[in-house]
Amino acid sequence: MSHTAELIAVGTELLLGNIANTDAQFISQGLSALGINVYYHTVVGDNPDRLRAAVELARTRADILITTGGLGPTCDDLTKNVLAECFGKRLVFHAPSARRIEDYFRKLHSSRPMTENNYQQAMLPEGCTVLDNDWGTAPGVAFEADGVHVIMLPGPPRECRAMFTHRAVPYLRKLSDGVIVSRTLKLFGIGESSMEAQLRDEMNSMTNPTLAPYAKEGECELRITAHAADEAAARALIDPVAAELRARFGPLVYGVDVPSLEAAVLALLREKGLTFGTAESCTGGLIAKRITDLPGASAAFRGGVVSYAAQVKHDLLGVDQALLDRYGAVSEPVAAAMAEGARRALGCDIAVASTGVAGPDPDERGNPVGLVYLALAAPEGTWVRRTEQNLKERPRIRHIAASHAFDLARRYLTGLEMK
Ligand code: ATP
Ligand code: MG
Repeated sequence: MSHTAELIAVGTELLLGNIANTDAQFISQGLSALGINVYYHTVVGDNPDRLRAAVELARTRADILITTGGLGPTCDDLTKNVLAECFGKRLVFHAPSARRIEDYFRKLHSSRPMTENNYQQAMLPEGCTVLDNDWGTAPGVAFEADGVHVIMLPGPPRECRAMFTHRAVPYLRKLSDGVIVSRTLKLFGIGESSMEAQLRDEMNSMTNPTLAPYAKEGECELRITAHAADEAAARALIDPVAAELRARFGPLVYGVDVPSLEAAVLALLREKGLTFGTAESCTGGLIAKRITDLPGASAAFRGGVVSYAAQVKHDLLGVDQALLDRYGAVSEPVAAAMAEGARRALGCDIAVASTGVAGPDPDERGNPVGLVYLALAAPEGTWVRRTEQNLKERPRIRHIAASHAFDLARRYLTGLEMK
């Protein structure tokens, strides 16, 4: 049976815009990974009447209600009282939770004494499942009443995330018979809207597995989620769909369940025992940064040159001054010469280079913001990709440019056509 959840975030500070509802974002991602529908997010202030009204509405359209916030010891922390009342439950003293709160104060807050109102946090709806909070004081709560599952989680994001992952998810998994498994295809070089246009019919008609697209900075993900009696049965539903999508999108798919393009590249480099280096202009070291963020990068990454000034491109990478004068730094021949120079200077098997205009202004030759050349030099030759991003923001232009460099490397390393 499929479930529908509604998130109710309690906190006036959310309504005032003092903080963003990041708990809801995290929980929603987790629920969709479990195959649970989320149709509404509600945000309500620390006001019992309005919270009651929000709960009464939510229970008409969802069979799982998850609240965040308002579990603390202060008087504006009213979530438990209101939810218990809405579902006709009394609050009763839960001695083990009181002991845990005492312990928590003894261990972590020896300088801050526990006050009487902390015992308020040990008053829990009768018959509930207590979700022990190993990350703070307020225990979470789960119970079922009138066919609705209610889960209450603390508001501070660090606690909320841990409590959701380690307490609520196992509880929710038990609600659905069988397992929910998903696999994520990662694509580079296609926009979300064009992918969606190609897949709209399938996405609407599929029920198990389901197919959902996500757009990330310059990338797309396609998540296939199946619900089945066990892992093997879920895989059997997912695998043919994954194979079909891989065939359809071909070289645009850079991996399945891999964390990032750079991780895919590093894995390929290590598998083939090849070394890698960079010569970066407009990305200013971002390509090197992204690969060295990964553990194990030293097995393949030799180093990089951030050659921002033309002089440095010439002096350190040996880019011919005549090329720089004739074509300008932002050009195909200079990108190629930078990558070749990096191979020589760094003594690596393959090197990538970036040169472009990150903005906000066009360069002195009138090259537009967002124009970036990426090059890859390898023993077999050198390839250059010209990219024109219709963006204005420097960080995004640089990030996507770096991704193109990794995509070139990924194509080279998997023997795909270099374009
Ligand atoms: P505490 O024991 O700290 O009082 P609580 O469960 O009562 O926790 P709140 O008092 O509602 O939670 O919120 C505590 C803090 O957690 C807020 O000041 C805010 O910084 C953060 N917070 C609360 N709700 C959210 C949310 N939905 N998204 C992000 N942060 C939140
Ligand atoms: Mg509070």
